Amino acid sequence: MVKETKLQVEAIRNGSVIDHIPANVGIKILQLFNMHNMNERITIGLNLPSGALGHKDLIKIENIYLNKEQANQLALYAPQATVNQIEEYRVTNKLALALPDNIKRVFECPNSNCISHGEPVESQFHVQQRQEHVTLKCHYCEKVFSRDIVTEHK
Ligand SMILES: [Zn+2]
Repeated sequence: MVKETKLQVEAIRNGSVIDHIPANVGIKILQLFNMHNMNERITIGLNLPSGALGHKDLIKIENIYLNKEQANQLALYAPQATVNQIEEYRVTNKLALALPDNIKRVFECPNSNCISHGEPVESQFHVQQRQEHVTLKCHYCEKVFSRDIVTEHK
């Protein structure tokens, strides 16, 4: 297990390795961060075998380091993901993912009757977590949605 991780990390010289992403979520994360439009080299592993998750996705981005806000957004999609910062083939920093308390602008409210649609306001959700289950509560209509509904509605 340790050996496997080491091999995956050693493959890039400088950049970020996002590991332990649930299978099928890797593509969404690429879209979220617009990674496919970056000019840096990106390596994606989809449906890799993983002891803990069964299958996982993995993303390696050269020369890019995620900031804290990006790490928090990432936590919405993949709370168990790990982000390693690599410099000269070595892990120099492990980013702790923390769910944000609030998320603005990124998602639209799935409730078509919500006033946020007709008004020039930024969407806003309050993030709540009970164990593995993450829900988003709309600031305007106060309806509560599971994370999956909101992130797929984007
Ligand atoms: Zn709403």
